[in-house]
Amino acid sequence: MDTQTQPTQPTLRRNTRQRQLVLDAVRVRCDHPTAEDVYRNVHAIDEHVSRGTVYRNLNLLAETGVITTVKAPGAMRFDRRCDGHSHVVCRQCGSVADTPLPYDPALDEQAGALTGFAVEAHSLVFEGLCPQCAPNQYAPRTIEAEA
Ligand SMILES: [Zn+2]
Ligand SMILES: [Zn+2]
Repeated sequence: MDTQTQPTQPTLRRNTRQRQLVLDAVRVRCDHPTAEDVYRNVHAIDEHVSRGTVYRNLNLLAETGVITTVKAPGAMRFDRRCDGHSHVVCRQCGSVADTPLPYDPALDEQAGALTGFAVEAHSLVFEGLCPQCAPNQYAPRTIEAEA
């Protein structure tokens, strides 16, 4: 909600509405869409929203911590989840999934102690082949529905 005290201008209202469309498009998806995926979803709802607007709003939402980004090979992906979870990426089809591994803050401390950096966070991306691309690699475990 807009907590600013200035009167709402038409452009501001339009910007807010377009940003909400972009945010909704990320939130309904659990497959870590690319900016282009989000653009296609938003454009299907409102054809007046330009690609530039979608990309700009995605960056803004990521910068302000409303959504997060995943640095996957190929293209930057966007994530509705903001907790420090790790990802696994398929090097063949590019699919990105969350892993249920717990975030390990001890790694941040260790990396900081070893480098002298004030380490604030880390992100892990595992790479390999997804069950569709390497069906016989592992017996698939129960896939839990995402919360
Ligand atoms: Zn795959
Ligand atoms: Zn994720």
